[in-house]
Amino acid sequence: MTSTNDVTEARSDYAEAGGEHCVYLTFDDGPNPHCTPAILDVLAQHRAPATFCVIGAYAAGQPELIQRIIAEGHEIANHTMTHPELSKCMPDEVEYEILTTNKVIGMACPQASVRHMRAPYGIWSKEALAASAKANLAALHWSVDPQDWSRPGVEAIVAAVLASLQPGAIVLLHDGCPPDELGRRPHAGRRDQTVMALAQLIPALHDRGFAIRSLPQPNRIDQCP
Ligand SMILES: [Zn+2]
Repeated sequence: MTSTNDVTEARSDYAEAGGEHCVYLTFDDGPNPHCTPAILDVLAQHRAPATFCVIGAYAAGQPELIQRIIAEGHEIANHTMTHPELSKCMPDEVEYEILTTNKVIGMACPQASVRHMRAPYGIWSKEALAASAKANLAALHWSVDPQDWSRPGVEAIVAAVLASLQPGAIVLLHDGCPPDELGRRPHAGRRDQTVMALAQLIPALHDRGFAIRSLPQPNRIDQCP
Protein backbone atom coordinates (compact mmCIF):
# COMPACT_ATOMS: atom_id res chain seq x y z
CA MET A 1 0.00 0.00 0.00
CA THR A 2 1.15 3.53 -0.69
CA SER A 3 -0.23 6.81 0.52
CA THR A 4 1.20 9.06 -2.18
CA ASN A 5 -0.87 10.15 -5.15
CA ASP A 6 0.82 9.29 -8.42
CA VAL A 7 -1.65 11.39 -10.37
CA THR A 8 1.06 12.79 -12.64
CA GLU A 9 1.17 9.34 -14.25
CA ALA A 10 -2.47 9.73 -15.33
CA ARG A 11 -3.71 11.65 -18.37
CA SER A 12 -5.12 15.06 -17.37
CA ASP A 13 -5.64 16.58 -20.80
CA TYR A 14 -4.98 16.09 -24.49
CA ALA A 15 -3.42 19.49 -25.06
CA GLU A 16 -1.06 18.04 -27.67
CA ALA A 17 -3.92 16.61 -29.74
CA GLY A 18 -3.77 19.57 -32.11
CA GLY A 19 -3.79 23.32 -32.29
CA GLU A 20 -7.54 23.53 -32.43
CA HIS A 21 -9.82 23.60 -29.43
CA CYS A 22 -10.94 20.13 -28.42
CA VAL A 23 -12.68 19.37 -25.14
CA TYR A 24 -13.52 15.97 -23.64
CA LEU A 25 -16.51 15.46 -21.36
CA THR A 26 -16.40 12.74 -18.72
CA PHE A 27 -19.10 11.64 -16.26
CA ASP A 28 -18.27 9.69 -13.11
CA ASP A 29 -20.09 7.56 -10.55
CA GLY A 30 -22.99 6.24 -12.64
CA PRO A 31 -24.82 4.64 -14.22
CA ASN A 32 -27.80 6.00 -12.36
CA PRO A 33 -31.37 5.25 -13.51
CA HIS A 34 -32.45 8.88 -12.95
CA CYS A 35 -29.42 10.97 -13.87
CA THR A 36 -27.74 9.04 -16.67
CA PRO A 37 -30.73 9.02 -19.07
CA ALA A 38 -31.14 12.78 -18.57
CA ILE A 39 -27.45 13.36 -19.32
CA LEU A 40 -27.70 11.09 -22.39
CA ASP A 41 -30.73 13.04 -23.63
CA VAL A 42 -28.82 16.34 -23.48
CA LEU A 43 -25.77 14.84 -25.18
CA ALA A 44 -27.97 13.37 -27.93
CA GLN A 45 -29.72 16.68 -28.47
CA HIS A 46 -26.36 18.33 -29.14
CA ARG A 47 -24.70 15.31 -30.76
CA ALA A 48 -21.87 15.52 -28.24
CA PRO A 49 -19.85 12.42 -27.32
CA ALA A 50 -18.75 11.69 -23.77
CA THR A 51 -17.02 9.09 -21.62
CA PHE A 52 -18.87 7.53 -18.70
CA CYS A 53 -16.61 6.29 -15.89
CA VAL A 54 -18.93 3.74 -14.33
CA ILE A 55 -18.96 2.07 -10.94
CA GLY A 56 -19.14 -1.68 -11.53
CA ALA A 57 -21.64 -2.34 -8.74
CA TYR A 58 -24.03 0.11 -10.40
CA ALA A 59 -23.32 -1.12 -13.93
CA ALA A 60 -24.21 -4.67 -12.87
CA GLY A 61 -27.72 -3.51 -12.01
CA GLN A 62 -28.16 -1.23 -15.03
CA PRO A 63 -27.03 -3.20 -18.08
CA GLU A 64 -29.59 -1.44 -20.27
CA LEU A 65 -28.01 1.91 -19.44
CA ILE A 66 -24.56 0.59 -20.33
CA GLN A 67 -26.03 -0.62 -23.62
CA ARG A 68 -27.67 2.74 -24.27
CA ILE A 69 -24.44 4.62 -23.57
CA ILE A 70 -22.59 2.50 -26.14
CA ALA A 71 -25.46 2.51 -28.66
CA GLU A 72 -25.49 6.32 -28.62
CA GLY A 73 -21.80 6.55 -29.48
CA HIS A 74 -20.30 7.22 -26.08
CA GLU A 75 -17.57 5.37 -24.29
CA ILE A 76 -17.47 3.46 -21.02
CA ALA A 77 -14.49 3.69 -18.68
CA ASN A 78 -13.68 1.73 -15.53
CA HIS A 79 -14.23 3.53 -12.20
CA THR A 80 -13.85 0.40 -9.97
CA MET A 81 -16.53 -1.87 -8.50
CA THR A 82 -17.21 -0.10 -5.19
CA HIS A 83 -15.37 3.24 -5.44
CA PRO A 84 -12.79 2.74 -2.69
CA GLU A 85 -9.75 4.95 -2.22
CA LEU A 86 -7.33 2.62 -3.99
CA SER A 87 -4.27 3.83 -2.08
CA LYS A 88 -5.84 2.28 1.02
CA CYS A 89 -6.51 -1.09 -0.63
CA MET A 90 -4.30 -4.14 -0.72
CA PRO A 91 -2.90 -4.98 -4.17
CA ASP A 92 -5.26 -7.93 -4.62
CA GLU A 93 -8.22 -5.70 -3.76
CA VAL A 94 -7.08 -3.14 -6.32
CA GLU A 95 -6.92 -5.83 -8.99
CA TYR A 96 -10.33 -7.17 -8.00
CA GLU A 97 -11.88 -3.70 -8.17
CA ILE A 98 -10.55 -3.08 -11.66
CA LEU A 99 -10.84 -6.52 -13.26
CA THR A 100 -14.35 -7.22 -11.97
CA THR A 101 -15.60 -3.90 -13.29
CA ASN A 102 -14.27 -4.76 -16.74
CA LYS A 103 -16.08 -8.10 -16.54
CA VAL A 104 -19.36 -6.47 -15.49
CA ILE A 105 -19.17 -3.98 -18.35
CA GLY A 106 -18.39 -6.78 -20.80
CA MET A 107 -21.37 -8.80 -19.58
CA ALA A 108 -23.70 -5.81 -19.84
CA CYS A 109 -22.51 -4.87 -23.31
CA PRO A 110 -20.03 -7.10 -25.13
CA GLN A 111 -19.54 -4.35 -27.73
CA ALA A 112 -18.12 -1.98 -25.13
CA SER A 113 -14.40 -1.41 -25.53
CA VAL A 114 -13.05 -0.21 -22.19
CA ARG A 115 -9.85 1.79 -22.71
CA HIS A 116 -9.57 3.98 -19.65
CA MET A 117 -9.55 3.67 -15.89
CA ARG A 118 -10.33 6.58 -13.58
CA ALA A 119 -9.32 6.18 -9.94
CA PRO A 120 -11.94 7.10 -7.32
CA TYR A 121 -11.25 10.60 -5.97
CA GLY A 122 -8.48 10.88 -8.56
CA ILE A 123 -6.13 9.19 -6.11
CA TRP A 124 -3.62 6.96 -7.87
CA SER A 125 -1.29 4.55 -6.14
CA LYS A 126 1.51 2.64 -7.82
CA GLU A 127 -0.61 -0.50 -7.39
CA ALA A 128 -3.59 1.17 -9.09
CA LEU A 129 -1.44 2.30 -12.00
CA ALA A 130 0.11 -1.15 -12.33
CA ALA A 131 -3.25 -2.95 -12.15
CA SER A 132 -4.71 -0.58 -14.75
CA ALA A 133 -1.80 -1.15 -17.09
CA LYS A 134 -2.12 -4.91 -16.60
CA ALA A 135 -5.80 -4.65 -17.56
CA ASN A 136 -4.77 -2.63 -20.64
CA LEU A 137 -6.45 0.51 -19.32
CA ALA A 138 -4.95 3.98 -19.67
CA ALA A 139 -5.01 6.05 -16.48
CA LEU A 140 -7.44 8.93 -16.89
CA HIS A 141 -7.55 12.06 -14.73
CA TRP A 142 -8.98 15.50 -15.56
CA SER A 143 -7.97 19.14 -15.90
CA VAL A 144 -11.31 20.86 -15.25
CA ASP A 145 -13.33 20.11 -12.13
CA PRO A 146 -16.35 22.37 -11.48
CA GLN A 147 -17.28 20.30 -8.40
CA ASP A 148 -20.76 19.73 -9.77
CA TRP A 149 -21.27 16.95 -7.18
CA SER A 150 -21.37 19.63 -4.45
CA ARG A 151 -24.38 21.27 -6.12
CA PRO A 152 -22.92 24.80 -6.28
CA GLY A 153 -25.65 25.98 -8.69
CA VAL A 154 -26.09 25.62 -12.43
CA GLU A 155 -24.48 28.96 -13.28
CA ALA A 156 -21.52 28.23 -11.02
CA ILE A 157 -20.88 24.89 -12.73
CA VAL A 158 -20.99 26.46 -16.20
CA ALA A 159 -18.82 29.42 -15.15
CA ALA A 160 -16.24 27.19 -13.45
CA VAL A 161 -15.80 25.08 -16.56
CA LEU A 162 -15.59 28.03 -18.95
CA ALA A 163 -13.13 29.85 -16.67
CA SER A 164 -10.61 27.02 -16.59
CA LEU A 165 -10.83 25.67 -20.13
CA GLN A 166 -7.71 25.02 -22.14
CA PRO A 167 -7.46 23.22 -25.49
CA GLY A 168 -7.55 19.49 -24.85
CA ALA A 169 -9.23 19.87 -21.48
CA ILE A 170 -10.77 16.83 -19.83
CA VAL A 171 -13.85 17.98 -17.91
CA LEU A 172 -14.98 16.07 -14.83
CA LEU A 173 -18.74 15.90 -14.24
CA HIS A 174 -20.95 13.38 -12.43
CA ASP A 175 -24.03 11.37 -13.44
CA GLY A 176 -24.19 9.48 -10.15
CA CYS A 177 -22.98 9.31 -6.58
CA PRO A 178 -20.67 6.74 -4.94
CA PRO A 179 -22.45 4.28 -2.61
CA ASP A 180 -20.67 5.46 0.52
CA GLU A 181 -21.57 9.11 -0.09
CA LEU A 182 -25.28 8.62 -0.55
CA GLY A 183 -27.08 9.98 2.49
CA ARG A 184 -24.09 11.95 3.77
CA ARG A 185 -25.47 15.26 2.54
CA PRO A 186 -28.96 16.40 1.62
CA HIS A 187 -29.59 15.65 -2.07
CA ALA A 188 -26.16 13.94 -2.31
CA GLY A 189 -27.32 11.79 -5.21
CA ARG A 190 -29.14 14.47 -7.20
CA ARG A 191 -27.55 15.58 -10.43
CA ASP A 192 -30.23 17.92 -11.77
CA GLN A 193 -27.78 20.84 -11.65
CA THR A 194 -25.30 18.87 -13.74
CA VAL A 195 -27.99 18.10 -16.33
CA MET A 196 -29.06 21.75 -16.58
CA ALA A 197 -25.46 22.97 -16.62
CA LEU A 198 -24.62 20.56 -19.44
CA ALA A 199 -27.49 21.92 -21.54
CA GLN A 200 -25.94 25.40 -21.24
CA LEU A 201 -22.34 24.30 -21.37
CA ILE A 202 -22.37 22.48 -24.71
CA PRO A 203 -23.69 25.48 -26.71
CA ALA A 204 -21.33 27.78 -24.78
CA LEU A 205 -18.37 25.57 -25.70
CA HIS A 206 -19.43 25.55 -29.34
CA ASP A 207 -19.82 29.36 -29.28
CA ARG A 208 -16.24 29.63 -28.07
CA GLY A 209 -14.99 27.45 -30.90
CA PHE A 210 -14.46 24.28 -28.90
CA ALA A 211 -15.23 20.90 -30.46
CA ILE A 212 -16.44 18.21 -28.09
CA ARG A 213 -14.75 14.95 -28.98
CA SER A 214 -14.42 11.34 -27.87
CA LEU A 215 -11.21 10.64 -25.99
CA PRO A 216 -8.36 9.87 -28.39
CA GLN A 217 -6.89 6.38 -28.47
CA PRO A 218 -4.48 6.21 -25.53
CA ASN A 219 -1.54 5.51 -27.81
CA ARG A 220 -2.63 7.56 -30.76
CA ILE A 221 -3.29 11.29 -30.78
CA ASP A 222 -5.79 12.25 -33.45
CA GLN A 223 -5.65 15.75 -34.78
CA CYS A 224 -8.68 17.85 -34.12
CA PRO A 225 -10.53 18.92 -37.24
ZN1 LIG B 1 -15.98 8.78 -8.47
